[in-house]
Amino acid sequence: MRRSALIVGGGITGLTHAIAARQKGFDAEIIERRPGGDSTGGGLLLTGPAVRALRAVGLAAQCIAEGYPLFRTLNCDARGELRNIMALPSVLGPGQPTDVGISRTTLHRILCDRAIELDSVLRTGLSIEDVEDAGDSTGRIRVRLTDGTVRTVDYLVAADGVHSSTRTKLGLTVEPWYLGQVVWRAVVKRPSWASDPHTFSGPTYTTGLTPISSDEAYVFLTENLDEPEKVLPDERVERLQDLLAPFGGRFAEVRSGIVQPEQIVRIPVHTVFVDGPWHAGRGVLAGDAAHAPAPHLNSGAALAMEDAVVLADELSTYEDVETALLAYSKRRLNRARALVATSVQAILSEQAGRHDELNRLQRQGHGDMAAPI
Ligand SMILES: Cc1cc2nc3c(=O)[nH]c(=O)nc-3n(C[C@H](O)[C@H](O)[C@H](O)COP(=O)(O)OP(=O)(O)OC[C@H]3O[C@@H](n4cnc5c(N)ncnc54)[C@H](O)[C@@H]3O)c2cc1C
Repeated sequence: MRRSALIVGGGITGLTHAIAARQKGFDAEIIERRPGGDSTGGGLLLTGPAVRALRAVGLAAQCIAEGYPLFRTLNCDARGELRNIMALPSVLGPGQPTDVGISRTTLHRILCDRAIELDSVLRTGLSIEDVEDAGDSTGRIRVRLTDGTVRTVDYLVAADGVHSSTRTKLGLTVEPWYLGQVVWRAVVKRPSWASDPHTFSGPTYTTGLTPISSDEAYVFLTENLDEPEKVLPDERVERLQDLLAPFGGRFAEVRSGIVQPEQIVRIPVHTVFVDGPWHAGRGVLAGDAAHAPAPHLNSGAALAMEDAVVLADELSTYEDVETALLAYSKRRLNRARALVATSVQAILSEQAGRHDELNRLQRQGHGDMAAPI
C-alpha cells in the first residue's frame, strides 16, 4: 500500500514514525521548527519497552552499543549507603539489558541518520500554518507550511510534543497541566563506581545518577515548586548545587563536577492526555502530543516510539486511512491512559514524601508497560 505522510515535529516520535513509515514503503516528510533540527541535549533512560520499539525499527543494537546497557538500580541514602537494589522487568530477553542510558543527542543522531538513509525528507526551521480537507474524492488532507508551500498528503502526524499547536489546529483541544514540579538534569563525567543507575534519597528530595555512555552520566533531581519560576541560565549552577548540598559520600564528587550552565537542563513538568479519539479526519496525534506522562516512570519515550510503530502498522493493515487511525488510537488509548495516571500518582506520592508508594507505583507502571504492544 502506498501512503504519504507529513510529520510535524522531528523529535523521538516524528523521527521514529518516519523510519517505520518508510519501512512500510510510505513517503514521509518531517518538518521541524528548530532551525538546526538538533536535539536539546541531556540524557534519557530508555526502558525495555522503548528498546523493544527500537528493535521493531532495527535500531536497538545500535542504541545499546552507543548508549550504556543497564540491568538494575541501586537505591542509596543521602550519604551514599546502599538501601536496596531494584530490578526492572526484563522485556528484551535473557542476557539483554533491562534499560539503556543514552544521551539525547546520540539518540537523535541515530534516528535522524536512519530516517534520512531511508529517504525520508527532513526540513528544519519550518512549521505548519493551517490544515484543511483537500476537498477532493481522495479524502486527503491539505497542509500549508510557514514557508507558504502546500502539501496534500494521505495523513498528517502531530508529533510536536506536549505543547502541540498542531493538536489545536486539528481541533483536538486540551490544555497541558503543570504538575508542581521542575525537573533538573545535568550531564557529568561518569564516575567509575556508576556502572548502574543510582538514586540517593535526602530529607526533601531524591537525586540520582544514570550512566549514558562509558564517559558520561546524567544527574537528575525533581524540585517541588507551586509555580515554575524562571531561573536564568547563569544562575542554574548555583541553584542546582544548593539543591544537591544535602547529598554527601560519593555523590559529593558528582556534585562538584557540575560547573557549567550548558551541562544543565531545567524543565517544568507538564502532563497532557487526550482521552480519544486521537485523530480528526486525516490528522493524528502521536507521542507527547497525545499523552505526556510525568518523567518519574522514564516511559515517555517508550510510549512515543510504540505509537510511531503501531501507527505505521495499522496504516499498512487497513485500506481506509481513517479506519486505520481509529484502530491505532484504540490500540494505544488504554495503555497510555494507565501510564499517564500512574505517573501523576507517582508525582503526588513523591510530593507527599511517600517513598514506598512511589516505588510501588514505579513498579506498577513498568509492569504495565512490559505487556506486549
Ligand atoms: C525532564 C524530562 C526528562 C525525561 N526523561 C525521560 C526518560 O529518561 N525516559 C523517557 O522515556 N522519557 C523521558 N522523558 C519524556 C520524553 O522526553 C518524551 O516523552 C519524548 O521526548 C516525547 O517525544 P516527542 O517526539 O513526542 O516530543 P518532543 O520530544 O517534545 O519533540 C517534539 C518535536 O517537535 C518540534 N516542534 C514543536 N512544535 C512544532 C511545530 N509547531 N512545528 C514543527 N516542529 C515542532 C520540537 O522542536 C521537537 O523537536 C522526559 C521528559 C522530560 C520533560
